Amino acid sequence: MPDQQAEKKVVVVGGGPAGVFAAIEAKRTDPALQVLLLSDEACEPYEKPPLSKAVLTGKALPEHALIAGPKGMAVHGVTLACAPVTAIDRATREVIAADGRRFRYDALVLATGSLVRELSQLPLGMPRVHYLRTEADARPLAAALRDCKHLVVVGGGLIGLEVAASATELGIRTTVLEVAPRILGRVCDEDTSAFIAEEHRRHGVDLHTATAIVGVRSATDGIEIETSAGAILSADAVVVGTGVKPNDALAAAAGLKTDGGIVVDEHCRTADPAIFAAGDAVRFPAPHGLIRLENWKHAQDQGAIAGRNAAGGSEVYRTVPSFWSEQYDLYIQGVGFPPPQPTERIRRPLAGKSLLLFEIADGILVYAMGINAQRDLAAARRLIERRIPVDAAALADPSRPLASLLKANA
Ligand code: NAP
Repeated sequence: MPDQQAEKKVVVVGGGPAGVFAAIEAKRTDPALQVLLLSDEACEPYEKPPLSKAVLTGKALPEHALIAGPKGMAVHGVTLACAPVTAIDRATREVIAADGRRFRYDALVLATGSLVRELSQLPLGMPRVHYLRTEADARPLAAALRDCKHLVVVGGGLIGLEVAASATELGIRTTVLEVAPRILGRVCDEDTSAFIAEEHRRHGVDLHTATAIVGVRSATDGIEIETSAGAILSADAVVVGTGVKPNDALAAAAGLKTDGGIVVDEHCRTADPAIFAAGDAVRFPAPHGLIRLENWKHAQDQGAIAGRNAAGGSEVYRTVPSFWSEQYDLYIQGVGFPPPQPTERIRRPLAGKSLLLFEIADGILVYAMGINAQRDLAAARRLIERRIPVDAAALADPSRPLASLLKANA
């Protein structure tokens, strides 16, 4: 057997945060391993959060924020290759790229992420219609915004609202159409939605909730959108941010179990002991059953554990999920699992544009959401992680630093 074949090899598929952290951590765990990261993008893996903000407003380029640090993957001892993977041959333990190249693995990590949910009325590739997922989407959108007078954003979720905030910063008249009765329904309560909606309106965004698209017409000088409320909107560009779906087709075609995501156990391992998976594409065990999460910290943390386990470790992945979003001067954060029915919801009054909300189930803090309250959210995360019983009156009292509740229970 040639020497190259004898070297133990971890292959990671996917150049997002889950894949990058898996690759780096596999190599760190066992420096003797050969670690190969296969990405379907021909560039160093970059951070996605700036795409809807600094990249659109022209303040940064995707290559300014590389996930692996300014020197890229090579300094971590990981080999990066652009190779869209089309199949996994589990019998020979090889992944097969679109150009026919085959890459042998001893352990494989799938970090294939998610794909945009396409709207049939505004399909991918339609002129003046933009979806935002990768740098290849962000660059043409940033260019289109330079000549844009009226932008229509479809979807009042995280992508839609961040793009709306960036567009208004550029002086573009912006309309947001959200099909649900309120914006950000997936991440915050009604009062917080209303507060954030008001900030968008204050910045000039024309925000329509409970509004669907009933017709689309392409014109030479723009695009016309007819809404369920009977309005006809003429736009220079449209951004669609109507959610994502797990990119699990590669795993499913290889016979791995998928169920709205690649199913893994607490060690991030699929039913095939040589194959691990992490990030947006994955369904994994959480306290209330199998769940899938779409956020940066989850991708990074689960990727790291999948990588370490692929290198021979046996770590369990447990997470308290969190997200953040920047819109205007609002730094919006959530931490924990929002319960379907909290036994108690407590609002701590804060000054100005700050806000803090807690959801309690059976005397334990399970979810906290804040605006411009980073320090409080960091303390709330520790309360949630440690499952410390909380006193509702103390949570509601702005004179009681949250950190003191940690100490009281230390
Ligand atoms: P999202 O946060 O799930 O929001 C999608 C929104 O579009 C939802 O409010 C949804 O309403 C609405 N919608 C669905 N179909 C619609 C239609 N036909 N017309 C109008 N509105 C419609 O997803 P996203 O904003 O597209 O973001 C994509 C992914 O990127 C998510 O995973 C998100 O977490 C991630 N992301 C994260 C950040 C961050 O953490 N700061 C920023 C940007 C993106 P319903 O809820 O009723 O379906």
